[in-house]
This record gives sequence, structure tokens and C-alpha cells, in this order.
Amino acid sequence: MIYDFDLYVIGAGSGGVRASRMAAGHGARVAVAESTYLGGTCVNVGCVPKKLFVYGSHYAEDIEDAHAYGWREASAGSFHWPTLRDNKSAEIERLNGVYRGLLDGAGITLHEGRAVLLDAHTIALDGQTFTAQNILVATGSWPFVPEFPGREHVITSNDAFYLPEFPKRAVVVGGGYIAVEFAGIFAGLGAETELVYRGPMFLRGFDDTVREFVAHELREKGISLCFERTVERISLEGDQRVLEFDDASTTRADLVLYATGRRPNSVGLGLEQVGVELSETGAVLVDEHFRTNVPNIYAIGDVIDRVQLTPVAIAEGMVLSANLFTDAKPRSLDYENIATAVFCQPNIGTVGLTEVEARVRFDEISVFESRFRPMKHALTGREERTLMKLIVNPQDDKVIGVHMVGPEAGEIIQGIAVAMQAGATKAQFDQTIGIHPTAAEEFVTMREART
Ligand code: FAD
Ligand code: NDP
Repeated sequence: MIYDFDLYVIGAGSGGVRASRMAAGHGARVAVAESTYLGGTCVNVGCVPKKLFVYGSHYAEDIEDAHAYGWREASAGSFHWPTLRDNKSAEIERLNGVYRGLLDGAGITLHEGRAVLLDAHTIALDGQTFTAQNILVATGSWPFVPEFPGREHVITSNDAFYLPEFPKRAVVVGGGYIAVEFAGIFAGLGAETELVYRGPMFLRGFDDTVREFVAHELREKGISLCFERTVERISLEGDQRVLEFDDASTTRADLVLYATGRRPNSVGLGLEQVGVELSETGAVLVDEHFRTNVPNIYAIGDVIDRVQLTPVAIAEGMVLSANLFTDAKPRSLDYENIATAVFCQPNIGTVGLTEVEARVRFDEISVFESRFRPMKHALTGREERTLMKLIVNPQDDKVIGVHMVGPEAGEIIQGIAVAMQAGATKAQFDQTIGIHPTAAEEFVTMREART
């Protein structure tokens, strides 16, 4: 059987684009289908526009801080939301064009439309059918909003990037990455902001010291954090959303953003008809080589719901294409020590085990911790502080967890992740000469451990 393509990729997001380009580079005939926007979530309604908003939201503080450095006339004036929103959108359009160019340049056929599987080798799109030897499902994920009365009055992160008007008062529901990042964005851009989370402490899964520290910092910045509270219903009064909670308290806002997780985009793709197994939450089930139970159908990225991060989707795509189209021994992906950042303000950067995880895994650990006021704020008087934490296994002296809350934590932790990947010991951290004056040098000068 001669197929139209060696690989048909459904979804031109982070994982799909990288898998396509690598496969084409290995000589495969590749097509990719994209229903909505080239570059997927990350480029259009995720990492990129979010980071631009984070930059934008920091200016109010920067301008205020400038006074202490002698910039007496510096004034924030009034924030103009349409400028930020539309400049961001123009940059995203530019990036859409870059992605189109990347696919074109690699000789990949782009089908702009919604693809559906008809059988294990046939894809339907806009009334046409195509055949492929291998099919890759890289359709990403979509915001999940729980069922409750008044659900229609909330927005998700997809909408937050295109708001017609910026809110005066915003409520963010959820306690994960998106909730914490958007609470910082709304507050930084001038909205009175409340974050509502169902549990006792947000950012579940992060190191407890980090979670407590970030909660303190966000409160210092004027964000109201309401933990152990669940929304029962939301009603409209004029333009205002009225939220009623399980403890009978209420609050009002112009905007309610739900950031309560994302579900795999696997519905209506024809996967069930073709016999591809899904988990209860709709994740496509794959083995360590990203193969589904249908031998020529593969899946990567958010739709397999392992780690919903762009660099992970990209890494999965690279492993898959090399496995399919080179003679190299099939590889799987190592999910240990994935560094990650939360772009709240100040940022979180983290890699490796939390203290709780380390105590479960090892009989004994050493913990080095440092808290200080960043040098920049010596003059501004701002109370913002930085946290750094190293966790070490004393048996072999290996550094097994590194956590930071502070400006540019993501940038700093990326380098530390390389050291950890190379198996660095605490002694090697100590032998490393610092760069002075930086915050990062603290990671190579911590000497007092607690057990
Ligand atoms: P996607 O990038 O979502 O791509 C899937 C593509 O498939 C989409 O373009 C979709 O339109 C298309 N598609 C779906 N169904 C079909 C179909 N039937 N036919 C054709 N096309 C289809 N990660 C980070 O690492 N760092 C961050 O800072 C970060 N910030 C984020 C902020 C937000 C607000 C959000 C929502 C996510 C963020 N993420 C971040 C997560 C990151 O965006 C995702 O993990 C990543 O985009 C997943 O890549 P993917 O290829 O699996 O899916
Ligand atoms: P997360 O999984 O990070 O957080 C979801 C939050 O919603 C949790 O606090 C969870 O609470 C809460 N929640 C879940 N269900 C309900 C419910 N029914 N009612 C009330 N609260 C609920 O998801 P996000 O939506 O924040 O982000 C999705 C993913 O995208 C992230 O996990 C991350 O992988 C990726 N991302 C990465 C970013 C980055 O790298 N900087 C930035 C943004 C997103 P609980 O903890 O109690 O379960």
C-alpha cells in the first residue's frame, strides 16, 4: 500500500510542529493539519502572550522604584489596555507567520482545517481524505471549567488574552500555574485582584517553603488570597458578577477567570471509532515510545496529559520522530528533573525534588535555605524578598532539588538544571566561584545546612 504521507500530524502546536520538522529532516513525507492557529496554545494563548503580559504588568512597580534611583519625574500615568493587548496580538501574528515559514521551509504539507480519523490510516479534512503510514495526534488540551450554576459568566485563559475591556476588579479561581500567573498580571496592571482556591494552600506539588513564601509575597503585593473556598454559584447584577461561596460569603467582580486545569483535546477526533484507548479524563494512552494501542497511531504533548509544558511536548516530538525515521535504537523520554517556572511575581523556578518528596525517598537529607532582600530594593525600600533552597542527599552529596522565588528565577534555575542533569554534588556547587553581585551567587555560597 502506498500512502499519501509517511507521517500525518494532527495539530500544529509545540509538539506537532517539532515532530513534523524533525521527521521531514529525517527524509519523511509529512503533512500537518491545524484547525485554529499555527503554533498552538503556547504561541497563541499560552506561554508567549502570557509572558508579554507579565512583562507589561511589572512596569508599575519599576516606575515606582525608579524614584529611589533619582528618576524623579517617572510616572506610570494611566495604563492603556488596548495598547498592550493589540501589540501582543501583532507579535502573535508575526509568530504565526514564522511557524508557516518553518513548515514551508521543511517541505511539510500544511492542511488548514479540522482533521478527523476515519480509520487507522485515513484522515478526513474539509471533505477530502488523505492516507498515511503513521498518524500522530498532537491536539493539545483545552481549559476545564467545572459544572455549577452561573458557569456561563466566567472566562478562561483563552479569553483573557483578548478582553475588550480591562477589569477594575478580577477574581481568579484555581491555585495552579495559570491562576497564580494571571492573579499577578491582573494585579500588576491595576485591577483589584482576589484569588480563590479550594484547598488550604495553593500551588500543590511545589515545595512547601516555596508555596508559603509566594503566598506571603502575593499578599504583600495586594492580591487577596482566599483559600479553602469553593464557588457555589455566580449570578449577574448589571455588569457585575456576584460570586456565592460554600461558606455563604459573597464577592463581586467585573471579571471571573477560571483556571482549574486543562483537559486533553481528544473528543470528536474519531479516536474511539478507530479503537484508540483513552483514560477517564480523555488522555490518549501511550507507551514509553508514544505509541497508542493502535500500532501506527502515536500521541504526544498535552493530549497524553503527562507533563503539560511546551519543552516537554517538543522533547516528546523529537524522540518520536527519531524513533520512527532513523535507525537509532528507540529511545524513551526521561521525565525526571524537568525544570519549570511559574511566572508569578516574583517568579518561581524549580527543578528536582521538593523537600517532602526527598524525605519520602531518602532516609536523611540536608536542606540549605536562604532568604534575602534583592540588592535592587536596598534603595527602593520595597519589601519583596527572594528565597533560595537546595536539597542534598548526604549519602552521595548529590543536589536533588533546587527551588527559588525571586526575579528571573526561571533564568537562573535553567542553568542549575544543567548541573543537576550532569549529577552535580554540593561540593561542586561550593567549588564554583560566584558571579558578584548577583542573586544567583547565593546558590554557590550556602554553607549552613538543616536536616
Ligand atoms: P498545543 O500547543 O495546544 O497544540 C495543539 C494544536 O492542535 C492546536 O493548535 C489546536 O488548534 C490543534 N488541533 C486540535 N484538534 C485539531 C484537529 N482535530 N485538527 C487539526 N488541528 C487540531 N508551558 C510552558 O512550558 N511554559 C509556559 O510559560 C506556559 N504557559 C502557559 C500559559 C497558558 C495560559 C497556557 C494555557 C498554557 C501554558 N503552557 C506553558 C503550556 C503549553 O502551552 C502547552 O503545554 C503546550 O502548548 C502543549 O503543546 P501541544 O503541542 O501538546 O499542544
Ligand atoms: P493546574 O493543574 O496547574 O492547576 C489547576 C488548579 O485548579 C489547581 O489548583 C486545582 O486544585 C484547581 N482545580 C481543579 N479542579 C477544580 C475544581 N473542580 N474546582 C476548583 N478548583 C479546581 O492547571 P492550570 O489550569 O493552572 O494550567 C494547566 C497547565 O498548563 C499547568 O498544569 C501547566 O502544566 C501548564 N502551564 C504552565 C505554565 C508555565 O510553565 N509557566 C503556565 C501556565 C500553564 P488542586 O490543586 O486542589 O487539585
